[in-house]
Amino acid sequence: MKIVLHVCCAPCLVGTLPTFAELGEVFPFFYNPNIHPLLEFRKRLKALDVLAERENIKVEAVRQYGLHRFLKLVPPDGKGRCPICYQDRLGRTAHHAAETGAAAFSTTMVSSTYQDHNAIRKAGEEAAAEAGVEFIYKDLRYCAADGLALAKKMGLYRQQYCGCIFSEYERYKDTNTDIYRGTHKTAKTEKSP
Ligand code: SF4
Repeated sequence: MKIVLHVCCAPCLVGTLPTFAELGEVFPFFYNPNIHPLLEFRKRLKALDVLAERENIKVEAVRQYGLHRFLKLVPPDGKGRCPICYQDRLGRTAHHAAETGAAAFSTTMVSSTYQDHNAIRKAGEEAAAEAGVEFIYKDLRYCAADGLALAKKMGLYRQQYCGCIFSEYERYKDTNTDIYRGTHKTAKTEKSP
């Protein structure tokens, strides 16, 4: 059976791929307009490219940065955003599965211990019904630690927050880390080139 596997990030792919490979021929598909800001998006995509090259995995990726699309989809205050985020990503994946002749699709998000699995399952099943393909739900949370350990061993980038600017704020809002420690030169002390 041909299965399109929505990939949220490299660590989740490396952790779940062996399990999905037992079900059929897996075609990883990266579509994540929810990852912000731009440099974070590029870091996660680069980690996926590094993994794909190293392990000889053929990955299809939507490389366009999706900030504007994401902000149009979710409420301005970010409340209730996750089910919408799942619907968008799994909806696109379901259509990609149908267009490429796959019988089914799933997502590496099912290995996350942070995501709302009921909402993922609901979004996946609705997208499946609309596109005419099967959604495979498996609770793979037990794969998360292995995925992270493997990613660390391979030197892959491992993100510190879910993806969107709201989740980045929630992750860091209570920290007081001084991230800027550069030396500062005033205009008076700087010499002309
Ligand atoms: S917290 Fe994660 S799942 Fe929820 S909207 Fe943001 S990126 Fe999407």
